[in-house]
Amino acid sequence: MANILVTGGAGYIGSHTCIELLNHGHEVVVFDNLSNSRYESLRRVQKITQKHLVFIEGDIRDADHLDQVFQSYSIDAVIHFAGLKAVGESQAMPLHYFDHNIAGSICLFQAMKRANVFHLVFSSSATVYDASNISPLHEEMPTGMPNNNYGYTKLIIEQMLQKLSAADARWSIALLRYFNPVGAHTSGLIGEDPQGIPNNLMPYLTQVAVGRLEQLAVYGDDYDTIDGTGVRDYIHVVDLANAHLCALENRLSTQGCRVWNIGTGQGSSVLQIIHAFEKVTGIKIPYQVAPRRSGDVATSFSDNQRAVQELAWQPQYGLAEMLADSWKWQQQNPSGYSSTQHKYK
Ligand code: NAD
Ligand code: UDP
Repeated sequence: MANILVTGGAGYIGSHTCIELLNHGHEVVVFDNLSNSRYESLRRVQKITQKHLVFIEGDIRDADHLDQVFQSYSIDAVIHFAGLKAVGESQAMPLHYFDHNIAGSICLFQAMKRANVFHLVFSSSATVYDASNISPLHEEMPTGMPNNNYGYTKLIIEQMLQKLSAADARWSIALLRYFNPVGAHTSGLIGEDPQGIPNNLMPYLTQVAVGRLEQLAVYGDDYDTIDGTGVRDYIHVVDLANAHLCALENRLSTQGCRVWNIGTGQGSSVLQIIHAFEKVTGIKIPYQVAPRRSGDVATSFSDNQRAVQELAWQPQYGLAEMLADSWKWQQQNPSGYSSTQHKYK
């Protein structure tokens, strides 16, 4: 059992990870500025697990506040989710992204060092792979300059952490490169709650299904793929959450910095997703083919064998369950968390 500080723990992936941490007997301290989430997610995490967690509203760029947290709780390790993730917004507001993601991460790592906490799991992304790599993507394949500022911040933080661990053997760092997280906790109580019009396929699709949006645009049907539409490696968020637990346990007993892909190793096209969703839910999805979205690659899926072998982790959920759980969350919470206005104080 360990005391885990979870930055960004009120968000989509963080809240699911808190459930797995609590269910495995860890003590959880969430540090989140709620800029893209609500405390309600954590209220529901506690309802699902029947366990208590500590919530602190704060910003990772606030060094004094972080010092206070490390002084107040005997933290053993940090899982660092906090950051901004909207690709389009990162293009319009680069400094804002550099500040929250890069400067915020540096501020956190400095506070960790002051507190003698050197175990870290970091949320990276498959976007750091060079676009010329052919899937399945393996951890040893080259990274490249991401085509957006969000991806750039992930690459920079990964590189900083690699240099940090090379310079100081006390650090023990997991870089988890997520593929495409989808789905929700099987209770339907917590899930992804994007603000405004979603950018990603799954929340867009479920919002069309629930009637919030009119139709889905399929970005390009002329790629060199099975049916011309983009292929991605969708991974159930509960499997992803469990990968954090496995990475954490690995890092608590090993030093150095290690990269792991977290995906299923299976690719699905946009049309395959639409048709599978229709089959699982019985709902017809209106869609129209639109031009390719700038910056998209045709195919991206993982070689996940390193995580399977080294972390003793195995994805448990198939595509049908990912789609059913995404839909259950959307159906039970048509407006996300916004219909519930509990303040935590
Ligand atoms: P999310 O937006 O739901 O969660 C991020 C959380 O961080 C939010 O609760 C937000 O309020 C908080 N936050 C943002 N800036 C902060 C700051 N300066 N200080 C404190 N808290 C702050 O996003 P998510 O989908 O759960 O993603 C979690 C992490 O995983 C992010 O770092 C994201 O970049 C990364 N990631 C996500 C995906 C994906 O498709 N969802 C893919 C790859 C990587
Ligand atoms: N996509 C789509 N319509 C949408 C959103 C996404 O056709 O409204 C496609 C997109 O072109 C890509 C796949 O769905 O091929 C996954 O896109 P998403 O934005 O979810 O993830 P990422 O681009 O990060 O892989």
